[in-house]
Parts: sequence; structure tokens; C-alpha cells
Amino acid sequence: MSSVKGPGDRIEARCTRCNDVTGHVIVALVGGQVVKVECCACGSVHKYYPPKTEKVAVDDGVRRVRAGTDRRQALASSSPRAAAPSRSQARAAAAAAAVENAWRTAMERPSAPAARPYTMGMPLQQGDVVEHATFGLGTVQSVIRPDKAEILFRDGVRTLRCVC
Ligand SMILES: [Zn+2]
Repeated sequence: MSSVKGPGDRIEARCTRCNDVTGHVIVALVGGQVVKVECCACGSVHKYYPPKTEKVAVDDGVRRVRAGTDRRQALASSSPRAAAPSRSQARAAAAAAAVENAWRTAMERPSAPAARPYTMGMPLQQGDVVEHATFGLGTVQSVIRPDKAEILFRDGVRTLRCVC
């Protein structure tokens, strides 16, 4: 890139006085490398500092985010530090797994009655199994009189209407 440049050419560089990347004019080259530049913004003549050095960390982060189809995937695929799930994510995953385990255990128990399609007006008692149009199979954990039941579905406990 610097090979096509010569003294008097414009070049982007980091200016120590402006503390920013500004347009500079090349003052001196050594062996094809720019060594001295003059800042077009403040006029100071100084050593050439490539514009990228300070931005590497930022650019790197941007690239990581763009590497995958979404942010989490991008971070997971390219950054070992970010790949580890956060403590709250891990807790949420563990809680979800615990719920699913409890649900599976309840659904597979030998005494489980046959599933009935859930309706708001159905009579329910503890241990009943329902099949909800949205939530799927669930088992009644407890009834809350006069008209609600706590039902354990695969993704968690929901309080739904029923006839107790
Ligand atoms: Zn400057």
C-alpha cells in the first residue's frame, strides 16, 4: 500500500496531537515505508503511525459478531472467552433441563392416566394428564380451587383454568 505512495501524497495516519486518525501528507519515506508525515488537520510533522494499530481490538470484535449468523453464534465460534455460557444462561439451561426431567418422569410414571384434550371447562384433579393445543402434554401438579390447576408442561408449570 505504501509502495505506491511518495512524498507529498495523502495518507491516513494516526496523529499524536489530534489523538485521532486524520489525513496526512507524506514527508519522508525510508525503503518504501512512510516514516514521517504532516497532519492536515493540525499541521504537526511527526513519525508515521499506521491508522489501524489502535483500532485492532474494535475491528476484531466487529468481525467476530459478523462471522456467524447471529451474535451468540459468532461469539461462540470465534471467541473462547465468550463461548462459555454466562452464569445466568447456564442456570437457565439447568432449570429448563430440570423442568423437562420432572415432566418426563411425571409423564412416564406407570400410574399416569391417558391424556385428555385440555379445555377450560374440563374437570381436573391432581395427577390428571392433559394434552394442550399449544403446550403439549402436561400433568396436573395441583388444583387451585375454585377454577385453576397448576399443570407441568415440558417447558414449565402453567396455571390454567379448569373445573376443580
Ligand atoms: Zn493532527
